[in-house]
Amino acid sequence: MNQRTLNVAVLTVLTLLLLFPMLVASQGFRDKETKPSPDTIIHNGVILTMEQSPAQVEALAIQGGSILAIGDESDILAMAGRNTRFINLEGRTLLPGFIDSHAHYVQWWSDGGFSTPDEAVDFALSCGWTSYSSMCVDPNFLEELRTLDQQDRLRIRVNAYLQLSWEFYRLGDWYQAYQPGQEFSSKLRIGGVKIFMDYWWMEWVHYFNQTELDTLVQEAHEAGFQIAIHSVVDNATDIVLNSLESVLEGQSNELYRHRIEHLVLLRDDQIQRMSNLGIIASFQLPWCNSDSIPDFTQFYQDYSHIVGRWRDIVQAGMPSIGSTDFTNLFPDSVGSATDAISMAVTKTGYLGLAPPDWMLNQSLSVEQALRLITIDAAYGTFQEDVKGSIKVGKLADLVILSDNPLTVSEDDLADIEVLLTMVGGRIEYTKEGSGFPEPPPRPIQWSEILPPPLIFISFLFLTLFAFFAYFERKGG
Ligand SMILES: [Zn+2]
Repeated sequence: MNQRTLNVAVLTVLTLLLLFPMLVASQGFRDKETKPSPDTIIHNGVILTMEQSPAQVEALAIQGGSILAIGDESDILAMAGRNTRFINLEGRTLLPGFIDSHAHYVQWWSDGGFSTPDEAVDFALSCGWTSYSSMCVDPNFLEELRTLDQQDRLRIRVNAYLQLSWEFYRLGDWYQAYQPGQEFSSKLRIGGVKIFMDYWWMEWVHYFNQTELDTLVQEAHEAGFQIAIHSVVDNATDIVLNSLESVLEGQSNELYRHRIEHLVLLRDDQIQRMSNLGIIASFQLPWCNSDSIPDFTQFYQDYSHIVGRWRDIVQAGMPSIGSTDFTNLFPDSVGSATDAISMAVTKTGYLGLAPPDWMLNQSLSVEQALRLITIDAAYGTFQEDVKGSIKVGKLADLVILSDNPLTVSEDDLADIEVLLTMVGGRIEYTKEGSGFPEPPPRPIQWSEILPPPLIFISFLFLTLFAFFAYFERKGG
């Protein structure tokens, strides 16, 4: 080391020693600031809160993954600190992130045409979904979800519904090893349990008789779990309602939030009964649109008076939640939230067939459809206090749409694009060419690319190589 190098080294060390107390002091000064400045401010667009009041605001501030403030543009902009990032909506529409109350993105990713679960997650995010309820979680799939979560690959929030049965097969009480509402992380949570009472519209099969279902429902109810029961056909739903009514013993379902999935055939008396009991109706927004007419012509002729009664359900006032059931391919495979809204409102599918009157009579308003996949969906998982609307203190799960669904014409709903999706204040999807900030780079997950044995072998090989290279040099 020559004198010059030594001088530079000594000077550097001295400078660092001098700077260190100043850095500490400035940090202390920053900590003393009472008002936290937002990480992100989103402004200059239409912000639909999905709250009663205010229903619309001009700007919002985010800090640490949650909504810090909402309000007028000038008030929010005044909160900006030195490190605040701005997202200028330029007239676009911001909504709370969409919640798919019944879907299978990560589980049946290959059915959706994806080559990895990560691709399915990317797809869901690109559709504006920030949360979904995974409705068929068996012990193996729960392990898969937990692994993905530990590897930071669940970039969407997942509520897992643990499966108690599949057709005539019973999975036992494995679910009781978990707690209702148990959170493995901010992305993975136990939602409840799932039971299959029947199968499909054309299959009049019951997987349980009344006594069997009563027993299973009683056990899960006593263990404190929210129960979701797949029931498509009305006579299966009779059995389900008997079981639920019996465990509720006159108490409000508000405490338990038991829910019935699909409800494709539903009679008037059942709508009344569900409303009285406060059972949550969980149905698929895109189902029973005009695309299904060619496949179900005869069925619709026989049952149109009780098929897909989404409007009657919502208007009856029972708690209701909306979903897609994607990637379930039967019958209408729709993962796009905006397409799902469009189909629920217009009843017209991708084929563009004109829907018959009985279908149109069950169309929802855009506002109803939006509630079903935001604030009402959050109620469906006991999470209405943390997400589902834009409110101070709630999670910054947000979606930017190219247009305002409440003001475009119904025919243009399907053309609305998702431009950006944010989960917990972090941008997880940006539409190419939209001009919005890109998602931050994610650290490379070697485990995503290589299976664990390969990582180990590669590591071993490299170590051995380095070792031999070293001795080779020493020897030579
Ligand atoms: Zn399903």
